[in-house]
Parts: sequence; structure tokens; C-alpha cells
Amino acid sequence: DSVFANIVQAPEDPILGVTVAYNKDPSPVKLNLGVGAYRTEEGKPLVLNVVRRAEQLIINDQSRVKEYLPITGMADFNKLSAKLIFGTDSPAIQENRIATVQCLSGTGSLRVGAEFLVKHYHNRTIYIPQPTWGNHPKVFTMAGLSVKSYRYYDPATRGLNFQGLLEDLGSAPSGAIVLLHACAHNPTGVDPTTEQWEHIRQLVRSKGLLPFFDSAYQGFASGSLDTDAQSVRMFVADGGECLAAQSYAKNMGLYGERVGALSIVCRTADVATRVESQLKLVIRPMYSNPPIHGASIVATIFKDRDMYTEWTIELKAMADRIISMRQQLFDALRARGTPGDWSHIVKQIGMFTFTGLNTEQVASMTKEYHIYMTSDGRISMAGLSSRTVPHLADAIHAAVT
Ligand code: PMP
Repeated sequence: DSVFANIVQAPEDPILGVTVAYNKDPSPVKLNLGVGAYRTEEGKPLVLNVVRRAEQLIINDQSRVKEYLPITGMADFNKLSAKLIFGTDSPAIQENRIATVQCLSGTGSLRVGAEFLVKHYHNRTIYIPQPTWGNHPKVFTMAGLSVKSYRYYDPATRGLNFQGLLEDLGSAPSGAIVLLHACAHNPTGVDPTTEQWEHIRQLVRSKGLLPFFDSAYQGFASGSLDTDAQSVRMFVADGGECLAAQSYAKNMGLYGERVGALSIVCRTADVATRVESQLKLVIRPMYSNPPIHGASIVATIFKDRDMYTEWTIELKAMADRIISMRQQLFDALRARGTPGDWSHIVKQIGMFTFTGLNTEQVASMTKEYHIYMTSDGRISMAGLSSRTVPHLADAIHAAVT
């Protein structure tokens, strides 16, 4: 008999499992709005033209070798990634107060950051928003942090529960870690305003909480890389410390290349140097060093002014298409006279709409209309097109009437 005979079948991942179910459905009208991956108007995955160009340059460069990268990854990539999120003229960069390491996309950056905090930070409690990306509690628990939540979303207004957020962070113990979505909050699509961010910043600093930013959608929310980094930059501008996990999955379409970065902003250059030395000890036994290809693409694009511009244009086009899908879905529901206030579809930000549909309504839409989404009613707007909006609107209409 197998030594593994007693192993029980594990459930599918709540997000990636949606795609597994979708793939099994033979219906020609099936629609996958589960996973947060960009699709074109034709419903196809998109490789950015600028990424293809960069890959050509990389492949044609005969001087490139396949040696190991350093434990911390590609130095150029790290420097440029810090500039992208903190701003080209960030004093923290000029003062060498930031330790940046290349990691395995956003998830890997969060995990390395969490492992570092468990080893070297005095408080092991992290507060995450309620709700949040389903992998957050798992990543942090596996790293050894204790996970608590703070109120974030108000189902009544389908907006931010700002009072609840302030109360919960206000009563968190001093020194606790706070996870903040830099922009385009997943799954709700609800972000604080600039004024609310300033309030949050003052509270976080006055209580000595440690902010850990998850930046998985820079440029995807507004179409502007700078606008989407404002929250992070406010926290760095006050001279205080924070962590930031960056992902290039969405904004450069590099999902499967697993390219991202973890930055730890410190008070002094001396501290940052020691922090980086310890990050190496976290990474080495985990995966030794990161892969080359994705980071080469990012660095190639960042180092060429023309390619960088092309990237920002292609990124803006993706963001604009998503925004136009919001308007089209909203208009389609209005045209059908679907009961309820659907203005949150156009108000929410980023890749997802948190529809407010409940588990039963979602299940009926999957059964009757072959539309797949997470059971919390989150739909990926990036998976929609002008062609599929009417089908989705019909399904929502049927589910709520
Ligand atoms: N954080 C959030 C909020 C996300 O939505 C995602 C992607 N779904 C990630 C992190 C990490 O994604 P990746 O590891 O593919 O960069």
C-alpha cells in the first residue's frame, strides 16, 4: 500500500479553481470572469508589443549567459523597480535607504517580506482588510505571522467602511503590521480617497504601525503609473519605514514569468544594508535566487526611453478598455431595467467589480449562463468584451429578478 494512502483530496484553490471548472464546461457561450488576467476585445490573452520587442533584443544578444543571478536578483531591475513605485526623485532612493530584492512576482514578494518580519520584527501580528485577496491570509500564516483583520468594505454602500477601518486600526496594538492595497483593492475595487489615505497615514504613524503595501496593479487602476503609486509615496514622504511588494503580472502582462520585487524602506542607509543582508538569508534556503528572463524584459524596457513610453501607452490602453467595460455593463443593466443601484460598477477601480451578487446568485449564473466567477460575486472586468457584456447583463438580470 502507498505510504500516502491516507492523504485526503484537497479542495481546489477558490480563485484558480474557477478556471478548472470553466475548462471542463463544453458550452460555446461560457465566460470566465474568475481569474484576474487581462483579455483583449477578442477574449484572448495579451502579450504587450513592447514585451515582444524586448524579448527579441534579449534573444538576439549573444553575450547573454544563463549564469545564476545574485540571491537578491538583477541589480538594474531592483533599482528601476524602486524608482517605479517610489518615484524617480524619491529622497529615500537618493539616500540609499531602500533594500530592494527581486522576487517571484507579487506573491513571492509578500512571502519573503513576511518571512523577514517573522525573523526580525518585534510584532508578529498583521492586520489585513476584510475582505482581501484570498491568498493573503494563507501567505502570511504560512510565514508564521498571526493574521487579524480590519473592517474595509461596507456592503450597504458598496464603498469604503472608513469609520470601521479607522476604529480597527486605531485599536490595533502599537507596532502591529498593516497590509494595505496600494491601489485597485482586490476584490472590492474600492480605494480610499487621497484625503482618506492621509488620515490613514497619520493614524498608522501615530500608532507606530508598520505598513506593508501590496502593489499588484500599479498603472492598471487609473492608467497612470504615478497616480496609482500615490498612496505608497505619501507614506515614504514622511520619512517613516514601510514594506512594498510589487508585481509585474498585470501591468506588464508577465503573469507566468513570475517577476516582482520586495522593497523595505528604512530610516537610514546603514539599516537598509543590514536588512538586505538578512533578506539574502531568507531567500537562499527558499529558492536560492530568482529567474532571469522576466527581470531582463522589465529592465530592457525601463532602460530604453522609447520602449518605456510604448509600455505606458499599452498599459493605459488596457486600463481604458477595463473602464469602458464598466460603462458598457452599467448601461446594459440600465437598459434592461435590472432592479437595484448598479452605479458601483462604474465607481469601483481596477480589474474587478464586487457586484454584490451572493453565492446562490453566482451559482445560478454559472448553471444557467455558464458564467464563471468567484463565489463572493467578484467579476474580472478584464475578462469581458463588448461581445460578452449582453450575455453577462442577461445573467445578472435573471439572477436578481
Ligand atoms: N496581491 C493581489 C492583491 C493580487 O490581486 C495578486 C494577483 N492576483 C497578487 C498580489 C499577486 O499576484 P502575482 O503573484 O501573480 O504577482
